[in-house]
Amino acid sequence: MSHYFDYAATQPMRQCAIDAWVSAAASLNPGAQYASGRRARSVLDEARETVARLLGCEPIEVIFTSSGTESDNIAVQGLYRAGSHKRVVSTPIEHPAIKETVSYLAAQGAQVDLLDVGRDGRIHDLSALDSPADVATCMWANNETGVIQPIDEFIARASAVDTPVHIDAVQVTGKLDFDFDSLGAATLAASAHKFGGPRGIGLLLARRAPAPQPIAFGGGQERGIRPGTVDVASAAGLAAALDESLRESAAESVRVGKLRDRLREGILASIDNVLLNSVEPCLPSHLHVSFPGTDGDSLILLLDQLGIEASTGSACHAGVNRMSHVLEAMGITEHDGLGSLRFSLGRGTTEDDIDFVLARLPEVIDRARSVSALG
Ligand code: PLP
Repeated sequence: MSHYFDYAATQPMRQCAIDAWVSAAASLNPGAQYASGRRARSVLDEARETVARLLGCEPIEVIFTSSGTESDNIAVQGLYRAGSHKRVVSTPIEHPAIKETVSYLAAQGAQVDLLDVGRDGRIHDLSALDSPADVATCMWANNETGVIQPIDEFIARASAVDTPVHIDAVQVTGKLDFDFDSLGAATLAASAHKFGGPRGIGLLLARRAPAPQPIAFGGGQERGIRPGTVDVASAAGLAAALDESLRESAAESVRVGKLRDRLREGILASIDNVLLNSVEPCLPSHLHVSFPGTDGDSLILLLDQLGIEASTGSACHAGVNRMSHVLEAMGITEHDGLGSLRFSLGRGTTEDDIDFVLARLPEVIDRARSVSALG
Protein backbone atom coordinates (compact mmCIF):
# COMPACT_ATOMS: atom_id res chain seq x y z
CA MET A 1 0.00 0.00 0.00
CA SER A 2 1.40 3.36 -0.87
CA HIS A 3 1.55 6.41 1.34
CA TYR A 4 0.58 9.35 -0.87
CA PHE A 5 2.16 12.72 -0.06
CA ASP A 6 1.65 14.55 -3.35
CA TYR A 7 -1.76 16.19 -2.94
CA ALA A 8 -0.39 19.51 -4.18
CA ALA A 9 0.40 17.85 -7.53
CA THR A 10 -2.99 16.22 -7.89
CA GLN A 11 -5.51 14.44 -5.73
CA PRO A 12 -7.87 11.51 -6.25
CA MET A 13 -11.24 12.51 -7.66
CA ARG A 14 -13.91 12.89 -5.00
CA GLN A 15 -16.82 10.43 -5.26
CA CYS A 16 -19.25 13.38 -5.58
CA ALA A 17 -17.25 14.61 -8.60
CA ILE A 18 -17.26 11.16 -10.21
CA ASP A 19 -21.03 10.92 -9.67
CA ALA A 20 -21.65 14.39 -11.12
CA TRP A 21 -19.33 13.63 -14.03
CA VAL A 22 -21.04 10.30 -14.80
CA SER A 23 -24.54 11.73 -14.64
CA ALA A 24 -23.57 14.46 -17.14
CA ALA A 25 -21.35 12.27 -19.35
CA ALA A 26 -24.00 11.82 -22.06
CA SER A 27 -24.49 15.59 -22.46
CA LEU A 28 -24.34 16.85 -26.03
CA ASN A 29 -23.34 20.28 -27.33
CA PRO A 30 -24.31 22.99 -24.81
CA GLY A 31 -24.27 25.52 -27.67
CA ALA A 32 -27.01 23.78 -29.68
CA GLN A 33 -30.53 25.25 -29.80
CA TYR A 34 -32.56 22.02 -29.79
CA ALA A 35 -33.74 20.08 -26.72
CA SER A 36 -30.60 17.97 -26.07
CA GLY A 37 -28.46 21.09 -26.43
CA ARG A 38 -30.65 22.98 -23.98
CA ARG A 39 -30.36 20.11 -21.51
CA ALA A 40 -26.56 20.18 -21.76
CA ARG A 41 -26.68 23.95 -21.43
CA SER A 42 -28.69 23.77 -18.25
CA VAL A 43 -26.15 21.36 -16.66
CA LEU A 44 -23.38 23.77 -17.67
CA ASP A 45 -25.30 26.79 -16.39
CA GLU A 46 -25.85 25.07 -13.08
CA ALA A 47 -22.11 24.28 -12.75
CA ARG A 48 -21.27 27.89 -13.63
CA GLU A 49 -23.76 29.24 -11.07
CA THR A 50 -22.40 26.94 -8.36
CA VAL A 51 -18.83 28.11 -9.02
CA ALA A 52 -19.96 31.76 -9.05
CA ARG A 53 -21.79 31.36 -5.72
CA LEU A 54 -18.86 29.53 -4.10
CA LEU A 55 -16.16 31.92 -5.33
CA GLY A 56 -18.07 35.18 -4.98
CA CYS A 57 -18.49 36.35 -8.55
CA GLU A 58 -21.10 36.59 -11.27
CA PRO A 59 -21.75 33.55 -13.47
CA ILE A 60 -20.60 35.52 -16.52
CA GLU A 61 -17.20 35.95 -14.86
CA VAL A 62 -16.67 32.16 -14.77
CA ILE A 63 -14.79 30.75 -17.76
CA PHE A 64 -14.13 27.03 -18.09
CA THR A 65 -10.72 26.12 -19.55
CA SER A 66 -8.73 22.90 -19.89
CA SER A 67 -6.31 23.48 -16.99
CA GLY A 68 -4.73 25.90 -14.58
CA THR A 69 -1.96 26.26 -17.14
CA GLU A 70 -4.38 27.38 -19.84
CA SER A 71 -6.10 29.81 -17.45
CA ASP A 72 -2.73 31.36 -16.54
CA ASN A 73 -1.77 31.68 -20.20
CA ILE A 74 -5.03 33.32 -21.24
CA ALA A 75 -4.92 35.75 -18.32
CA VAL A 76 -1.30 36.87 -18.60
CA GLN A 77 -1.01 36.94 -22.38
CA GLY A 78 -4.56 38.22 -22.79
CA LEU A 79 -4.25 41.10 -20.31
CA TYR A 80 -0.87 41.99 -21.80
CA ARG A 81 -2.46 42.18 -25.26
CA ALA A 82 -5.29 44.30 -23.91
CA GLY A 83 -2.84 46.93 -22.59
CA SER A 84 -0.34 49.29 -24.14
CA HIS A 85 2.55 49.74 -21.65
CA LYS A 86 4.57 46.75 -22.81
CA ARG A 87 5.38 46.03 -19.17
CA VAL A 88 4.75 43.02 -16.89
CA VAL A 89 5.36 42.68 -13.14
CA SER A 90 5.70 39.22 -11.64
CA THR A 91 7.69 37.21 -9.09
CA PRO A 92 10.60 34.78 -9.51
CA ILE A 93 8.75 31.94 -7.72
CA GLU A 94 5.81 31.45 -10.08
CA HIS A 95 4.75 28.05 -11.41
CA PRO A 96 6.06 27.40 -14.95
CA ALA A 97 2.54 28.14 -16.28
CA ILE A 98 3.20 31.80 -15.40
CA LYS A 99 7.01 31.85 -15.44
CA GLU A 100 7.28 30.56 -19.01
CA THR A 101 4.44 32.78 -20.20
CA VAL A 102 6.17 35.85 -18.77
CA SER A 103 9.48 34.75 -20.40
CA TYR A 104 7.65 34.42 -23.69
CA LEU A 105 6.30 37.97 -23.34
CA ALA A 106 9.83 39.19 -22.50
CA ALA A 107 11.06 37.56 -25.71
CA GLN A 108 8.27 39.46 -27.52
CA GLY A 109 9.66 42.76 -26.20
CA ALA A 110 7.91 43.21 -22.83
CA GLN A 111 9.80 44.87 -20.02
CA VAL A 112 9.56 42.40 -17.13
CA ASP A 113 10.15 43.33 -13.48
CA LEU A 114 10.33 40.51 -10.95
CA LEU A 115 9.80 41.31 -7.26
CA ASP A 116 12.47 40.02 -4.87
CA VAL A 117 11.72 37.12 -2.57
CA GLY A 118 13.14 36.70 0.95
CA ARG A 119 14.48 33.54 2.63
CA ASP A 120 10.94 33.17 3.99
CA GLY A 121 9.67 32.56 0.43
CA ARG A 122 7.61 35.78 0.37
CA ILE A 123 7.71 38.93 -1.71
CA HIS A 124 8.35 42.01 0.44
CA ASP A 125 9.31 45.03 -1.65
CA LEU A 126 6.31 45.81 -3.87
CA SER A 127 7.57 49.15 -5.19
CA ALA A 128 7.81 47.90 -8.80
CA LEU A 129 4.01 47.89 -8.72
CA ASP A 130 3.91 51.68 -8.33
CA SER A 131 4.49 52.24 -12.07
CA PRO A 132 1.78 51.10 -14.49
CA ALA A 133 2.03 47.77 -16.31
CA ASP A 134 -0.29 45.81 -18.60
CA VAL A 135 -0.49 43.01 -16.08
CA ALA A 136 0.89 42.23 -12.64
CA THR A 137 0.77 38.54 -11.78
CA CYS A 138 1.35 36.77 -8.49
CA MET A 139 0.58 33.34 -7.09
CA TRP A 140 -1.59 33.22 -3.96
CA ALA A 141 0.37 30.33 -2.43
CA ASN A 142 3.53 28.77 -3.78
CA ASN A 143 3.15 25.22 -5.07
CA GLU A 144 6.53 24.07 -3.70
CA THR A 145 6.68 25.65 -0.25
CA GLY A 146 2.98 26.46 0.33
CA VAL A 147 4.03 29.96 1.46
CA ILE A 148 1.17 32.46 1.14
CA GLN A 149 1.93 35.73 -0.63
CA PRO A 150 0.64 39.17 0.45
CA ILE A 151 -1.84 39.33 -2.40
CA ASP A 152 -4.16 41.95 -0.85
CA GLU A 153 -1.28 44.40 -0.72
CA PHE A 154 -0.12 43.31 -4.18
CA ILE A 155 -3.57 43.98 -5.65
CA ALA A 156 -3.96 47.31 -3.81
CA ARG A 157 -0.57 48.63 -4.98
CA ALA A 158 -1.15 47.58 -8.61
CA SER A 159 -4.73 48.86 -8.65
CA ALA A 160 -3.60 52.29 -7.42
CA VAL A 161 -1.98 52.82 -10.85
CA ASP A 162 -4.70 50.92 -12.76
CA THR A 163 -2.59 47.85 -13.46
CA PRO A 164 -4.82 44.77 -13.89
CA VAL A 165 -3.84 41.90 -11.60
CA HIS A 166 -3.87 38.17 -12.28
CA ILE A 167 -3.80 35.81 -9.30
CA ASP A 168 -2.69 32.20 -9.74
CA ALA A 169 -4.91 30.62 -7.09
CA VAL A 170 -4.37 27.03 -8.23
CA GLN A 171 -2.96 25.90 -4.86
CA VAL A 172 -5.52 27.70 -2.68
CA THR A 173 -8.86 27.25 -4.46
CA GLY A 174 -11.01 24.79 -2.52
CA LYS A 175 -8.78 25.26 0.54
CA LEU A 176 -9.21 28.95 1.38
CA ASP A 177 -12.52 30.75 1.16
CA PHE A 178 -12.42 33.86 -0.98
CA ASP A 179 -14.71 36.27 -2.75
CA PHE A 180 -13.43 37.12 -6.23
CA ASP A 181 -15.41 40.31 -6.63
CA SER A 182 -14.12 41.89 -3.43
CA LEU A 183 -10.56 40.68 -4.05
CA GLY A 184 -10.06 43.34 -6.71
CA ALA A 185 -8.11 41.18 -9.19
CA ALA A 186 -8.97 41.28 -12.90
CA THR A 187 -8.48 37.53 -13.33
CA LEU A 188 -7.85 34.42 -11.23
CA ALA A 189 -6.80 30.88 -12.20
CA ALA A 190 -7.81 27.60 -10.55
CA SER A 191 -7.65 23.92 -11.49
CA ALA A 192 -10.19 21.19 -10.66
CA HIS A 193 -7.77 18.30 -10.08
CA LYS A 194 -6.16 20.18 -7.17
CA PHE A 195 -9.41 20.05 -5.18
CA GLY A 196 -10.67 16.61 -6.12
CA GLY A 197 -12.34 17.38 -9.43
CA PRO A 198 -11.47 15.86 -12.81
CA ARG A 199 -8.08 16.44 -14.42
CA GLY A 200 -8.24 18.41 -17.67
CA ILE A 201 -10.56 21.22 -16.57
CA GLY A 202 -9.60 24.58 -15.15
CA LEU A 203 -11.24 27.83 -14.17
CA LEU A 204 -10.53 31.36 -15.20
CA LEU A 205 -12.45 34.03 -13.33
CA ALA A 206 -12.43 37.20 -15.42
CA ARG A 207 -14.12 40.49 -14.70
CA ARG A 208 -16.06 42.12 -17.51
CA ALA A 209 -13.40 44.85 -17.70
CA PRO A 210 -10.51 44.86 -18.15
CA ALA A 211 -10.97 41.50 -19.84
CA PRO A 212 -8.13 39.49 -21.37
CA GLN A 213 -7.94 39.44 -25.16
CA PRO A 214 -8.37 35.90 -26.52
CA ILE A 215 -5.20 33.98 -27.38
CA ALA A 216 -7.11 31.37 -29.41
CA PHE A 217 -9.94 31.99 -31.84
CA GLY A 218 -13.09 30.07 -32.67
CA GLY A 219 -16.80 29.87 -32.08
CA GLY A 220 -17.09 32.52 -29.38
CA GLN A 221 -17.84 30.21 -26.42
CA GLU A 222 -16.96 31.41 -22.92
CA ARG A 223 -17.26 35.09 -23.90
CA GLY A 224 -14.87 34.43 -26.78
CA ILE A 225 -12.08 34.40 -24.18
CA ARG A 226 -11.83 30.61 -24.37
CA PRO A 227 -13.56 29.42 -27.54
CA GLY A 228 -14.22 25.70 -28.04
CA THR A 229 -17.09 23.37 -27.05
CA VAL A 230 -17.15 23.16 -23.26
CA ASP A 231 -16.74 19.78 -21.52
CA VAL A 232 -20.07 19.78 -19.67
CA ALA A 233 -19.43 16.59 -17.64
CA SER A 234 -16.09 17.91 -16.34
CA ALA A 235 -17.67 21.27 -15.48
CA ALA A 236 -20.31 19.40 -13.43
CA GLY A 237 -17.56 17.37 -11.71
CA LEU A 238 -15.57 20.52 -10.98
CA ALA A 239 -18.55 22.27 -9.37
CA ALA A 240 -19.38 19.25 -7.17
CA ALA A 241 -15.75 18.90 -6.04
CA LEU A 242 -15.41 22.60 -5.28
CA ASP A 243 -18.59 22.58 -3.22
CA GLU A 244 -17.51 19.61 -1.10
CA SER A 245 -13.94 20.84 -0.78
CA LEU A 246 -15.00 24.25 0.52
CA ARG A 247 -17.54 22.75 2.92
CA GLU A 248 -14.78 20.57 4.42
CA SER A 249 -12.00 23.14 4.26
CA ALA A 250 -12.17 24.66 7.75
CA ALA A 251 -12.10 21.28 9.53
CA GLU A 252 -9.64 19.77 7.06
CA SER A 253 -7.20 22.67 7.46
CA VAL A 254 -7.04 22.02 11.20
CA ARG A 255 -6.76 18.23 10.86
CA VAL A 256 -4.18 18.30 8.06
CA GLY A 257 -2.24 21.14 9.73
CA LYS A 258 -1.81 19.05 12.90
CA LEU A 259 -0.52 16.09 10.88
CA ARG A 260 1.84 18.35 8.94
CA ASP A 261 3.16 19.90 12.18
CA ARG A 262 3.79 16.46 13.63
CA LEU A 263 5.67 15.44 10.49
CA ARG A 264 7.76 18.61 10.64
CA GLU A 265 8.61 18.25 14.34
CA GLY A 266 9.41 14.55 13.89
CA ILE A 267 11.78 15.29 11.01
CA LEU A 268 13.53 18.10 12.90
CA ALA A 269 13.92 15.89 15.98
CA SER A 270 15.32 12.85 14.16
CA ILE A 271 17.46 14.24 11.33
CA ASP A 272 20.43 16.64 11.55
CA ASN A 273 21.00 19.59 9.29
CA VAL A 274 17.51 20.13 7.86
CA LEU A 275 16.39 23.36 6.19
CA LEU A 276 12.75 24.24 6.62
CA ASN A 277 11.36 26.03 3.56
CA SER A 278 7.66 26.10 4.49
CA VAL A 279 7.45 28.96 6.98
CA GLU A 280 4.31 30.79 8.11
CA PRO A 281 2.11 32.12 6.62
CA CYS A 282 1.82 28.81 4.82
CA LEU A 283 -0.88 26.40 3.63
CA PRO A 284 -1.42 23.69 6.28
CA SER A 285 -1.01 21.02 3.61
CA HIS A 286 2.62 21.75 2.68
CA LEU A 287 5.94 20.76 4.20
CA HIS A 288 9.00 21.54 2.10
CA VAL A 289 12.37 20.59 3.55
CA SER A 290 15.95 20.42 2.28
CA PHE A 291 18.54 17.87 3.36
CA PRO A 292 21.98 19.26 2.42
CA GLY A 293 24.32 16.58 1.07
CA THR A 294 21.57 14.66 -0.80
CA ASP A 295 19.81 15.08 -4.12
CA GLY A 296 16.06 15.19 -4.65
CA ASP A 297 15.77 12.57 -7.37
CA SER A 298 17.62 9.95 -5.27
CA LEU A 299 15.43 10.75 -2.28
CA ILE A 300 12.28 10.27 -4.32
CA LEU A 301 13.50 6.92 -5.68
CA LEU A 302 14.47 5.68 -2.20
CA LEU A 303 11.11 6.74 -0.78
CA ASP A 304 9.24 5.21 -3.71
CA GLN A 305 10.89 1.84 -2.99
CA LEU A 306 9.33 2.06 0.46
CA GLY A 307 5.91 2.98 -0.91
CA ILE A 308 6.15 6.67 0.04
CA GLU A 309 5.04 8.96 -2.77
CA ALA A 310 6.44 12.47 -2.35
CA SER A 311 7.99 14.90 -4.79
CA THR A 312 10.52 17.69 -4.98
CA GLY A 313 7.54 19.96 -5.61
CA SER A 314 9.07 21.43 -8.71
CA ALA A 315 7.34 20.62 -12.00
CA CYS A 316 10.40 21.17 -14.17
CA HIS A 317 12.73 19.44 -11.74
CA ALA A 318 11.58 15.87 -12.46
CA GLY A 319 14.30 13.97 -14.32
CA VAL A 320 16.68 16.93 -14.31
CA ASN A 321 18.90 17.07 -11.27
CA ARG A 322 18.79 20.79 -10.66
CA MET A 323 17.65 22.94 -7.79
CA SER A 324 14.28 24.59 -8.25
CA HIS A 325 13.97 28.23 -9.27
CA VAL A 326 11.87 28.82 -6.14
CA LEU A 327 14.65 27.81 -3.73
CA GLU A 328 17.16 29.75 -5.83
CA ALA A 329 15.01 32.90 -5.53
CA MET A 330 14.90 32.32 -1.75
CA GLY A 331 18.71 32.54 -1.68
CA ILE A 332 19.31 28.84 -0.95
CA THR A 333 22.58 27.47 -2.35
CA GLU A 334 22.67 24.54 -4.77
CA HIS A 335 24.56 22.49 -2.15
CA ASP A 336 21.82 23.05 0.44
CA GLY A 337 18.79 22.91 -1.84
CA LEU A 338 19.50 20.11 -4.29
CA GLY A 339 18.14 17.47 -1.92
CA SER A 340 14.67 18.80 -1.22
CA LEU A 341 11.35 17.13 -0.64
CA ARG A 342 7.80 18.40 -0.63
CA PHE A 343 5.35 16.43 1.45
CA SER A 344 1.86 17.64 0.61
CA LEU A 345 -0.99 16.28 2.67
CA GLY A 346 -4.68 16.02 1.93
CA ARG A 347 -7.99 14.46 2.81
CA GLY A 348 -6.70 10.86 2.67
CA THR A 349 -3.65 11.48 4.88
CA THR A 350 -3.73 9.66 8.23
CA GLU A 351 -1.66 9.42 11.43
CA ASP A 352 -0.39 6.08 10.08
CA ASP A 353 1.04 7.78 7.00
CA ILE A 354 2.97 10.21 9.21
CA ASP A 355 4.24 7.40 11.48
CA PHE A 356 5.32 5.42 8.43
CA VAL A 357 7.42 8.30 7.05
CA LEU A 358 8.90 9.25 10.40
CA ALA A 359 9.99 5.66 11.01
CA ARG A 360 11.86 5.46 7.69
CA LEU A 361 13.03 8.91 6.62
CA PRO A 362 16.12 9.15 8.91
CA GLU A 363 17.61 6.01 7.35
CA VAL A 364 16.76 7.22 3.83
CA ILE A 365 18.58 10.50 4.46
CA ASP A 366 21.57 8.67 6.00
CA ARG A 367 21.83 6.42 2.96
CA ALA A 368 21.47 9.30 0.50
CA ARG A 369 24.12 11.31 2.37
CA SER A 370 26.59 8.43 2.47
CA VAL A 371 26.13 7.67 -1.23
CA SER A 372 26.63 11.31 -2.18
CA ALA A 373 29.72 11.56 0.11
CA LEU A 374 31.24 8.61 -1.82
CA GLY A 375 30.36 10.08 -5.19
N1 PLP B 1 -0.20 27.13 -10.98
C1 PLP B 1 0.15 26.51 -9.85
C2 PLP B 1 0.52 27.33 -8.65
C3 PLP B 1 0.19 25.11 -9.79
O1 PLP B 1 0.53 24.50 -8.65
C4 PLP B 1 -0.17 24.36 -10.95
C5 PLP B 1 -0.09 22.88 -10.95
O2 PLP B 1 0.76 22.30 -10.28
C6 PLP B 1 -0.56 25.06 -12.10
C7 PLP B 1 -0.56 26.44 -12.09
C8 PLP B 1 -0.97 24.33 -13.36
O3 PLP B 1 -2.22 23.70 -13.20
P1 PLP B 1 -2.66 22.50 -14.18
O4 PLP B 1 -1.97 21.27 -13.69
O5 PLP B 1 -4.15 22.41 -14.05
O6 PLP B 1 -2.24 22.89 -15.56
